[in-house]
Amino acid sequence: MKVKVNKDACIGCGACAAICDKVFEINDEGLSVVKNEDVKKEDEQATKDAIESCPTGAIVVEE
Ligand code: SF4
Repeated sequence: MKVKVNKDACIGCGACAAICDKVFEINDEGLSVVKNEDVKKEDEQATKDAIESCPTGAIVVEE
């Protein structure tokens, strides 16, 4: 599983980083960035929860 954050859609609410801080973090601009786009198997469920919780649909699954 690979994920990316669409910077133009992210509003910096912090939900993704709160749910799955192994994959997402809030950068200096207050927007979410993916720490490592190749999501480990054990982090996939939390990543999916983060995707569902994103209010703007900014997190994109690439594969
Ligand atoms: S949940 Fe969505 S809008 Fe909120 S910080 Fe994460 S990517 Fe951005």
